[in-house]
Formats: sequence, C-alpha cells, structure tokens
Amino acid sequence: MVSYREQYFPNTEPLATDEMRIIALGTGRPFVRPAQANAGWLIELGNGDKFMFDFGFGTQMRFGALEIPYQSMTAYFATHLHTDHVGDFAQIWIGSWAGGRTVPLEVYGPSGPERKYGFAHFVEKQRESYAWDTDTRVGLLPAIGAEINVHEFDYSKPHVIYEKNGVTISCFPAVHIYDGPVSLRLDWNGLSFVYSGDTTPSYFMPENAKDVDVLVHETFNTVDQLMERSGYDERTARGIGTMAHSDPAEAGKVFELCSPRLAVAFHFFNDFDTAPEMESAIRQHYKGALALAKDLMVINVTRERILTRMAVTSSHVWPNKEHHDAFRTAERKERMKMSRWLSDKQIFPKF
Ligand SMILES: [Zn+2]
Ligand SMILES: [Zn+2]
Repeated sequence: MVSYREQYFPNTEPLATDEMRIIALGTGRPFVRPAQANAGWLIELGNGDKFMFDFGFGTQMRFGALEIPYQSMTAYFATHLHTDHVGDFAQIWIGSWAGGRTVPLEVYGPSGPERKYGFAHFVEKQRESYAWDTDTRVGLLPAIGAEINVHEFDYSKPHVIYEKNGVTISCFPAVHIYDGPVSLRLDWNGLSFVYSGDTTPSYFMPENAKDVDVLVHETFNTVDQLMERSGYDERTARGIGTMAHSDPAEAGKVFELCSPRLAVAFHFFNDFDTAPEMESAIRQHYKGALALAKDLMVINVTRERILTRMAVTSSHVWPNKEHHDAFRTAERKERMKMSRWLSDKQIFPKF
C-alpha cells in the first residue's frame, strides 16, 4: 500500500502506474476571488497522460503553482463556452507556448446548434483577435507553439471523443440554459471520473455516471446564501441558483442516483459559514462519501482507496524546468520587422 503525506507537495510524489490523481484548479463561481478561481480540473494518470477539463479564469495560476511543464499536458477539454469555463484559453495557448510548449495545443470542445455557438468558431476568433500577439512571438519562440489542433465534437449525444494510450474520454449532454454544454467522462485502467461542467440535474448523469469512482458535480450556493451574501433579489437568486445551475439539495439527489465512490461538489463559494448549510442540503438525499471542493484539493484514486487532501504550493515558481532541448532545436520562423523610424530610435540597436 502506498503511503501518502498529509498534504500534497508537487513533484515529490510520483504517481503509481495504476493510479489517477485529480486536482481542483478552480472551484468557484463566474467571478474570481483569491480563494477560488473559475472552473477547471486537472487529471493525471499513471501512464503519464495529463488532461485538463475546463480552463476558466484563474485556473492557470493554480496550474502554474503545480510546477508541471506545459509540454507534459496531453490535451485540454472544454464543457461549454461560458467564460468561467474557457476564460483562460489565452493562457493554455500562449502562456504555455511562452512557458515551453513545443508541440501544437490539443484542445477539444463541443459543437453548438449553430456554428457561431460552437468551439471551433470560438478558437478561430481567439486566433484572429490575438494575431498581433502570435505574429510578434514567432521568430522569438519556436513557431510550432502557436499551432492549435481544434477538435470540435457533437454536443448532442453521448459518445467517445478521445481514445488513445488506454484512455477513453466521452461526452454526454448537459442541461444548462441552452443547447451546447456537455459533461465529460474519463475511463482508464478500470478507474473512472465524471465531471458535470455546468448542469441542472438531469437523467443524463445517472445514465452515464452510475457507480463512477469520482463524480465532480456542480452546485451553486443556496438561494438564501445568494440573497444574503451576494445581494440578489429572490427572482435573480432562484434563476441563477436553480434554473441555470443545480442547488445543493438537487446535486445531492444526483449523487444519490449515481452512487459514486466519492462525490465532489464544486462551483460555489466554499466558506466556513456557507459549507455547513451546503452540506446539510446535499445530505437531504445523499449519504455517501462527500467532499466540498476547494482550489488545489488533490484526490488520489486507486482501486483500493480514494484519498482527499490539499496541495501545498509555492508562489514564485518557474514551471519550464524541462524540455529545453526541444526549445533549442525547434524551428524558428523569420521575425517581423518593425518600421525603420522605430528601430532607429533604439539606444542599444538590436533590430
Ligand atoms: Zn455555464
Ligand atoms: Zn460555470
């Protein structure tokens, strides 16, 4: 049996070959606060693969704190196009490029009922709007880092969207405001992980997540908390907390229907004075193992055991500690040339 420290210190615990490690990169609500970024989860597997499910604002700051070389990331997956789930796209693309990635970005996301609501369109417009950024970096950085392999998949039915190296990732529809959002499921080595993204309670979940090892499901704060703490009127609080999202009692019902080995609730402000009410609402229906997610919560999963604890990270990290050879040998394209009247004004002429 593996022994674990009480807290997780990045780069001190190699994963066992049959083990899965899930790390919360963001567990909060659509506006960021220091304690909780938007939505994002990292899944590391004992075969060396690393996946990210959602990359909302602030999540890449947490990822950086884990000191994982960007080059080591296998692929990124988006559940839907709300900013709190894809707002750090520029970081996973350009931040990771400047940070040492020398392979194309592999990114997956759902289609929509119209092209303009789909993931391929989102990425295309991101590319266009960052033209000055990427064109000025080419020549200074290996050009390949600007490349993106976009994989848009059908949002409207459960199906496999990724299959490689013994890992299967599938999607199924989520019921969240409008057509397009999905939930994601990862299966590897007899272990399974399901992530809701944003959804109101739906039968898709027990149909696709029954008896899963770890189920991360969204819940917003209670309607009372939204009114008292966020200052919403009752109509707005009910609209946000129960029509766009699951309230905690509803999330508890989903946990009961799915009976995971570990249920994880996220997407709410998790404070010492909100957590007890959240937990008792979830417990109206669900009696099994439960974690209320916080940023940088770490979940180690084996067939024998599921362990939940917190990571301890540094703030002054330098994540690009490997793959320097790839940077040295990667092809560089010709740099763009600025106007002569600008370059002539250099005190130390470099261009
Ligand atoms: Zn959403
Ligand atoms: Zn959300």
